[in-house]
This record gives sequence, C-alpha cells and structure tokens, in this order.
Amino acid sequence: MNIDHYANRFVCDLVAYEPGKPIDETARELGLEPADIVKVASNENPLGPSPRAKEAMIAALEDAHIYPDGGGYRLRSAIAGKFGLSIDNVVLGNGSNEIIELLCHSFLNARAELIAAEHAFVVYKLMATLFGAKYVEVPDPGFVHDLDAMADAITEDTRLVFIANPNNPTGTMVGQEELDRFMARVPDHVVVAFDEAYHEFLDKAPDTLKYIAQGKNVCILRTCSKIHGLAALRIGYALASKGVAAILQKARQPFNVNSIAQAGAIAALTDDTHVENTRRVNREGLAFYSQAFKERGLEYVPSVANFVLVKVGDGDRVFRDMLKQGVIIRAMRSYKLPDWVRISIGTKEQNERCLEVLDAVLGTVAVS
Ligand SMILES: *Cc1c(COP(=O)(O)O)cnc(C)c1O
Repeated sequence: MNIDHYANRFVCDLVAYEPGKPIDETARELGLEPADIVKVASNENPLGPSPRAKEAMIAALEDAHIYPDGGGYRLRSAIAGKFGLSIDNVVLGNGSNEIIELLCHSFLNARAELIAAEHAFVVYKLMATLFGAKYVEVPDPGFVHDLDAMADAITEDTRLVFIANPNNPTGTMVGQEELDRFMARVPDHVVVAFDEAYHEFLDKAPDTLKYIAQGKNVCILRTCSKIHGLAALRIGYALASKGVAAILQKARQPFNVNSIAQAGAIAALTDDTHVENTRRVNREGLAFYSQAFKERGLEYVPSVANFVLVKVGDGDRVFRDMLKQGVIIRAMRSYKLPDWVRISIGTKEQNERCLEVLDAVLGTVAVS
C-alpha cells in the first residue's frame, strides 16, 4: 500500500505553496550570474535590509551559541511600546505566516469554518485545508473584499475570518467605515485576523488597534519581511486581544523566533529612515507602472501595496518568457487568475528593466 494511504488525508490533498522562483535557481538554469537576475516576484524590499537591523544582527551573531529568549521579552516590549499596548498583547512568529498557522492550530478543527475573500492570500486556504476545516470563500467584486458579504457568511461554526488589508495579490484595501460596520456584526465566537503585511506602505491606514481596546477578539498580523527588508530572517508578530494572544503563546514552539531575527527586528522597528526611503521608492514605482500600463492599454488593479496585478493574457507564458530574459515575476494561476501576473515594485532600474522585458514579451509599446 502506498504510504499516502496512512498519512492524513488533509495533508496529502494539499497543493503545496509555490513561492517566487529563487534568484540562484534561475541563474543556474540560465547560466547567468545571480547579479544579472531581477527578482520582482515576492514583494521583497528592493533597498535591502534596514542598515540598522544589519548592524544589530552582526552584533547578535556573537551569541549564536546561546538559545534565543523564547519569551522574546526585549522585542515584545519594543513592539508593545511602539503601539501603546501591553507585552501580553504581542506574540512573535517565525514570519507572520507562522501566526496564521498558530491561529489555525488554536481555533480550527474538522467542524470549524474559516472565512476569507475569493482572491485572498493563498496561505489561509492552505492552512484551513491542513487542519481539516471548511474554507469559505466570499466573492470580492472588483478585487476588493466585500465585508458585508463576509459578515453574512458567518455561522455558528465560524472561528476565523481573515482580512488581508491591503490584500495580496490584489493590492486593494478596505477602509475604516467598512471595517467598523463589519466589526459591529462579528459575534464573540469569531476571531478576526487582520493581515497587515503591507500596512506600512499605506498613506492613510485604517485603525484596527482600536478593536483590541474595545475588547473584541482580534489578531493583527504584521511582518518585518516587507517594509523592513528582513524576509530571510522569518520574523513577524501579532498584536492581539490578551485572550487570543495567551492562546497563541501556548500553540507555538518554545524557540520559534531566533535571536538574530529578534535583534534585527528591534533595530528595524525604529529605523524610520529606511522605512521612509522604502515608501518613497515604492510610491515612485507604483506611479511608474500605472502610467506605463495606461499608456499601453493594459488592464491593471490600482494598488496601495508594493506590487501590482496586471492583465497580460497567458500569465504562465509571460512568466516563462520573461524568466528567459532574467526577470522573475509571479504568474497567478494558483490564485485562479491565469490571465494576470503580479509584479513587485523594485528600484527605478529594476522597474525599467522589467517593463522593457514585459514589452518585448507582449509586443506592447506606449501609444501616447
Ligand atoms: C508577504 C505576506 C505575509 C508575510 O509573510 P512572512 O511570513 O511574515 O514573511 C503575510 N501575509 C501576506 C498577505 C503577505 O503578502
């Protein structure tokens, strides 16, 4: 008998997450130098890591033989201080993806339901499946979360609702009014998870912290992978109601976040210069792509994050053809968007190279 027969069905049935294609792998396959590859596929920070974080991490290497502070006291205190919360509101994760998993560990089972938007970040579905729960997908007309419809979808069995704000891969967000209206309808047996991985890129960010103060069961997910440029370190955090935070703390591994990442994150959180520089480069890049797509008559979804979704026809082909020229973007078939690709905002040079290769592959030129 095949070993699959003895494994958990939920696991065997999973379609594994397909990450952005690594630079090294692409360079090897094309016989190019890694430096010649432009990767705009995983919404990473094109300016690199926060320089302050880099310094702190190098210093932290001296103690690499000591287990990390499993309680993450210094980093959790720094985060609590930054947001005016108590340390009991803060949970650290091995990337905010681990927080998603901790939420599922804590609240899902074979009877439970997780609600998310149709084009939400794919990890929610993956995790719901892994825990044998029911994944409820709510249509998002115009690629924007329909929070009224998501509230309508809540049942007695609903345990988690995920709202990615802004959402990946659509780059759209929902505003304060819709969020307030939604939260007023959420019953006590539901935990609302606001995935705010791109929060720091927003000019006018809605306030979700106030729901913690109001005593709602909420969990706000943030990450150092995007604006702080620490994706390799795997460090994210949750700002949660104390009750929810206490449960998540029990669900995690004792040393889930390494000490190098903790040191880097403490420094990154106060590196306002790096955050501002990143925001500026991103703003310019978003403007560059919107104008370029308009000039070419390409349909795209106006984005408030650090990536943009654009309609190109056969997304898999465009991905493959651009890859041959050393530019890695992301095809969107796994999001049921086979006609679209997602491009992360890079430096000015990366954006120009990416557009040039996209033009060559699509045969597009600016018409104005
Ligand atoms: C990138 C991203 C994350 C961050 O994941 P990490 O595990 O912190 O690197 C979380 N949620 C969404 C929607 C993302 O796009």
